[in-house]
Amino acid sequence: MGENKKMIIAGPCAIETKSGLLSVVKEIHNKVDVIRGGVWKARTLPKNYPGKGEEALKWIHEIQKKYNILFAIEVGTKSHVELALKYNIKIVWIGARTTSNPFAVQEIAEALYNTDTEIWIKNPIFSNLDLWFGAIERVRLNKLEKIKVIHRGFYSENEKTYRNEPRWDLLDRFRLKYPNIPIICDPSHITGDKKLIFNIAKKAIQKNINGLMVEVHHNPDNALSDKKQQLTPKQFIKLLAKLNLK
Ligand code: PEP
Ligand code: MN
Repeated sequence: MGENKKMIIAGPCAIETKSGLLSVVKEIHNKVDVIRGGVWKARTLPKNYPGKGEEALKWIHEIQKKYNILFAIEVGTKSHVELALKYNIKIVWIGARTTSNPFAVQEIAEALYNTDTEIWIKNPIFSNLDLWFGAIERVRLNKLEKIKVIHRGFYSENEKTYRNEPRWDLLDRFRLKYPNIPIICDPSHITGDKKLIFNIAKKAIQKNINGLMVEVHHNPDNALSDKKQQLTPKQFIKLLAKLNLK
């Protein structure tokens, strides 16, 4: 990867059906480094779509091989990690809700001990950097060396434009503390709105981030989670072109 090359990660917020996942992968696999997909979703309300669980891992396992492409999924518990390892997932991420929970981070890190799994840590919902730093230190203490972080914005009562406030100042402070940890920007969860993704992605590139994670769904209008912010594969390919990325 050249100095200015950005790592591109894209895929559905939540994996819903095998055919939906396959149609996204078919259209974008040549444009991305990694496919993302939620297998278990941390939903606010229990009535909301919780993810397909192990069934989705079986689809991923098959598609990973067929397209020779890596997948990244979110894990929140030890049993999620055990299943991810069982289905040969090489990259997992800790979601924004989990980063600030030391018990959960510890459990995840211990379950990954002595594996070569790459781990990405999303910033916590609250704009407290120590919560983020603490999760990184906990993961490091468990000898996980392949670490990246994901900037997905921070909750703020005052933010009107975006779903989450970008707080680029906190990103600068993050860099001062960990200059060698690559940063992936997630403009989908920062904006919460597909129309705003380009602007945040552009700003992130100006800030010299190392990668972008974008939510892409085969049929966003009918997605079972985050429908306002998901792009179609075609919209995503246009976005990359507009950003001069591929
Ligand atoms: C997600 O990536 O789909 C997600 C739930 O994001 P976050 O943890 O940033 O809210
Ligand atoms: Mn999402």
